[in-house]
Amino acid sequence: MEEQQMRNPAQVQADSSLVMNGGPRRITHELVEDTGIAVTAADDVADIVRTGRTVYWGGGPRSKRLEREFADHIGRSMAFFHNSGTAALQTALFALGVTDGTPVAITDSGFVASLNVIQHLRARPVFLPTAPETLLCQEDVSDWVDGVDVHTALLTHFFGNVLDAPATFASTGAEYLVEDAGQAHGATLRGRPVGSFGDIGSFAGSHKKLVTSGQGGLNVYDDPTIDFRMRAYAHHGHSQGENIYPGYNFRGGEMEATLGLAALADLPTRVAARNRTAAAITEILEKAGLTVARTPAGLDCTPAWFDVPVLLDESWLGHRDWLIDVLRQDGIELWKYPALIALPWVKPYMANHGWWGEREEELLRVERRLWDRLVLIPTQISAEDGRVVAEALAEILS
Ligand SMILES: *Cc1c(COP(=O)(O)O)cnc(C)c1O
Repeated sequence: MEEQQMRNPAQVQADSSLVMNGGPRRITHELVEDTGIAVTAADDVADIVRTGRTVYWGGGPRSKRLEREFADHIGRSMAFFHNSGTAALQTALFALGVTDGTPVAITDSGFVASLNVIQHLRARPVFLPTAPETLLCQEDVSDWVDGVDVHTALLTHFFGNVLDAPATFASTGAEYLVEDAGQAHGATLRGRPVGSFGDIGSFAGSHKKLVTSGQGGLNVYDDPTIDFRMRAYAHHGHSQGENIYPGYNFRGGEMEATLGLAALADLPTRVAARNRTAAAITEILEKAGLTVARTPAGLDCTPAWFDVPVLLDESWLGHRDWLIDVLRQDGIELWKYPALIALPWVKPYMANHGWWGEREEELLRVERRLWDRLVLIPTQISAEDGRVVAEALAEILS
């Protein structure tokens, strides 16, 4: 930890150079954000609209092509294109048989959708702790699942960083692995794409994601039974003339598939650009003595940074949101992300089912102390702008 150099809230409050205290705004130009939409596909999308049909039962030709190309790209035999990444996560759990009360291990370091879908299936979340150095799930979580017969592990490669998902999965004792790679498109683990290790790999196609389709999500897998259950569930539970599950309409559309195909072709360039921005930000912040999330030590991996997580020291507990407001006045836009276990509905939901105990209470306390002092710098800006943001932040905090 190199936290000793960080200023505390009182020191920042007294800084006369801040806009808050009458100083000039540090960043005056508009930072251009890359939303991920492939504008080169605009005419293709318009052509689809002109045909008068943008969606097909079971998926149209563009969706089918995206599924084929995406499965090949990850190295799996099948893929299914959904209308959102959340839908993809929900069908993934359903396809594996998750239902009322099924224990699903979930990384507290993850996107809220992964937790929401567990609740939508009325399953039991079994929270896994976060490692402060990586802001990813800890590698060995055996203590945290002790006494619970975990059915499925839903593990997230968060912020574009790479979790050793097979190792964590093994330590959960779960039967099935779903890898949420929604923020880590293009990252690799031991030379293979993330999302290729689970029974199902799940990817999001929403705003700012690396394979953006505007709205969309893709699952990849090899098992035909998974394919059958997932597609039926996502088509109103319908299969061969009968409605066999209480399903949804979760299929992806042709305009979105067209955007996804264009984004997929551009993936290596996009990953390189975001990693350049992340490297520029990280170098400046680390030089200033700030703590930034790292890839797991000794792990053979390449990240695809989505955000750069910066961990404030403990003097900032209770003041982080104030800091975000102060920095915004100076033109520095930072984000935050909650501990999933700390969401207000989680404890009542789990307690109602008898799933909340001392272990959960302890994890809630520890995770809050971590996530409540985290700020995120998005990488969807140029490396040059990343440098400007990091320098301004370093100046204020160190
Ligand atoms: C974006 C995202 C999802 C899915 O979100 P949607 O907005 O429904 O597409 C899932 N997991 C992670 C890690 C994500 O970042």
